[in-house]
Amino acid sequence: MTNREELEKAKRHLESLKNAANKQLLSSSQQIESVRLLVDQNVSPGMFRPHKSSSNIFFANSLTIRAVKKDLFLAGEGFEDLKRVVSCTSCNQELDEQFWSFCPYCEGKLSK
Ligand SMILES: [Zn+2]
Repeated sequence: MTNREELEKAKRHLESLKNAANKQLLSSSQQIESVRLLVDQNVSPGMFRPHKSSSNIFFANSLTIRAVKKDLFLAGEGFEDLKRVVSCTSCNQELDEQFWSFCPYCEGKLSK
């Protein structure tokens, strides 16, 4: 699945969440529509660098883009309560499990 397809899927998922909860989970679907993740290998692993002039564009290295859970990244705020810190089984980096499918630093598995 390409990043674009994954973003589309995440967007549909978020829209269904909003409908199921019967409340506005997102500030606007327009905002999701225009969020883009662009590859920049100079950005540190696990980090996102906002675009200078567009608030909907973020740069991250390619491993970070693959590792991040797109739906939660796009939702932005409101997930702090669900924070669950786990550590990478390879490099021991501590990560918030809700945002990562795998370690954005070394591609290792996250502990359960
Ligand atoms: Zn790791």
